[in-house]
Amino acid sequence: MPAPQAFPRDAIAPEQAQAILTIDLAALVDNWRAMAARTAPAECAAVVKADAYGIGLEPAAKALAAAGCATYFVAHASEAARARAALSAFAHARVYALNGIAWGAAGAAALLACAARPVIGSLAEWETWLRCAPGAPAALHVDTGMNRLGMSLDEAAQVAADPNAGAVDLVMSHFASSEVADEPLNAAQIALFERARALFPRARASMSNSSGVFLSARPHYDLARAGYALYGGNPTPAAPNPMRPVVRLQAPILQVRRVEAMASVGYNATWHAPGPRTLATIGVGYADGIPRAASGVDGRPGGEAMLAGVRCPFVGRVSMDLIVLDVTQAPQDAAAPGALVELLGHEIGVDDLAARAGSIGYEILTALGRRYCRVYLGA
Ligand SMILES: *Cc1c(COP(=O)(O)O)cnc(C)c1O
Repeated sequence: MPAPQAFPRDAIAPEQAQAILTIDLAALVDNWRAMAARTAPAECAAVVKADAYGIGLEPAAKALAAAGCATYFVAHASEAARARAALSAFAHARVYALNGIAWGAAGAAALLACAARPVIGSLAEWETWLRCAPGAPAALHVDTGMNRLGMSLDEAAQVAADPNAGAVDLVMSHFASSEVADEPLNAAQIALFERARALFPRARASMSNSSGVFLSARPHYDLARAGYALYGGNPTPAAPNPMRPVVRLQAPILQVRRVEAMASVGYNATWHAPGPRTLATIGVGYADGIPRAASGVDGRPGGEAMLAGVRCPFVGRVSMDLIVLDVTQAPQDAAAPGALVELLGHEIGVDDLAARAGSIGYEILTALGRRYCRVYLGA
């Protein structure tokens, strides 16, 4: 494996940081290859919005492009510009902006400036695009049940009847609950999408996000849009995670202390030691993206971290910059200042931490802190 490389944009040295976030680009690429194998002969695009779900848009896009990924989805024009710059060595890479054209003509110009294609979701956006970028390719989002973005089937039919309809190079829709395999809405959305797709026989079609790729209906069409699974999230929450973890978060213990039974920990004393306990404090908190909702309070367990192979629960409130762990069960000599605990990795995935916080792994990933020393392992 090549030597770990700190990515320049996040050049925080380990000795300046309170935690190390290791991003395994080889695992990212493996996950993309696994998804591409599943969707073949359809293409598998990478969704790299929100800084590639928090792991870093530039390193992610470069690693995926080198592996052969040809199509990218972002949300905003600012992300499209970053993706285009990162992909400068891959002139044919396609970049789509899922949120479409914000700010009218100025927004259209921002997308054109980086040769990005809007995902158009309304007739007004369609008009704007035709006016600002005649003939330039765009995707069309047809709403099939999210009621969030996208045009109705009737509106899509109006676009299809427009003499400029040839600009539509991709027709797409988005599942509301593809991670729930037996959700009836999935089949209803597929049925509606079939009708939308028929309106644009020359455009490519795209329906599936990560979880959609695992549906038995195989709604892959020409292009799948994989995000979460690439970053190691579980696209099949009812079954073991088929993806490789991409992020690993490790923090050194700052202090160790012993407390007596009934000692309380942290703000508002929400946790009390059920007996004599050994506690360890780490320098990571909610400002670093560990949810405060993962606090360990009396009667309700919170998050956990691994120390020497032992799960150590969070005790007391997660504070801005600190978390206290109950390390009583870990080997005595392992619980020492400087010893590394693992908050995310093979044992504790983003889905696990999210479950302890009443959230989803997507939110854990996209909230990953900016104060970590980020280390990228080569693709
Ligand atoms: C974010 C997003 C995706 C990717 O979804 P994952 O569940 O992360 O794979 C695909 N399509 C659209 C429209 C999205 O907004």
